[in-house]
Amino acid sequence: MHKIIGLTGGIGSGKTTVARFIEEMGYPVYNSDTRAKDLVNESHDLKAAIIQLLGSQAYDENGLYDRKYVGSIVFSNDELLKQLNAIIHPAVNKDFHDWVKRQSREIIFKETALLFELKLNLQCDKSLLVTADESIRIKRVMDRDSKTYREVEKVIDNQMPERKKIRLADYVIENNSDMQHLRLSTEKIMTSLINDLHKI
Ligand code: ATP
Repeated sequence: MHKIIGLTGGIGSGKTTVARFIEEMGYPVYNSDTRAKDLVNESHDLKAAIIQLLGSQAYDENGLYDRKYVGSIVFSNDELLKQLNAIIHPAVNKDFHDWVKRQSREIIFKETALLFELKLNLQCDKSLLVTADESIRIKRVMDRDSKTYREVEKVIDNQMPERKKIRLADYVIENNSDMQHLRLSTEKIMTSLINDLHKI
């Protein structure tokens, strides 16, 4: 039986960086957000369902998912966004379960930004949260994505408050310092996580 660890964190927290460290330690990590982006193009069933919901303009002239267009129409329409998510989330879920079956390691990770929001932590054995102070996260995303302070702040305002996530998480990595510190914190948490998992 696999032991699944949900890896999450708000925008700019450093969860993808932690995922990379975990992979370097030899553990497989499924990235739900990246897979969702791939699946809307790869899966014929998903593509058909999206076109049925949003029209053929959801895909550009090369047949690729038009994220900008879709974003612009679901942005102000909560109901449509809900329906779109109701199509995409089960497809990612199925893809994840297929991936799990292919893994030979016992301990595996599922990286997803919305672990607690979608209650996906209930399908995991443990949850691991990466967190950092809001001002630090905003600065990192501004540097990475050349977004304005206000744009990043708006995304953060729409995510679950950090203190609530900290309460829900089994393990927390604080990422307020440099990369070397983050790597050491990851290694330390992994040691206790693996010890604890062997006891379950
Ligand atoms: P998102 O949800 O936006 O994808 P994320 O939580 O996956 O973000 P990362 O992409 O890992 O976060 O990190 C955000 C940015 O901050 C990246 O450019 C990363 O290289 C940088 N970063 C992460 N941790 C640190 C750190 N401790 N010191 C310096 N830069 C960092």
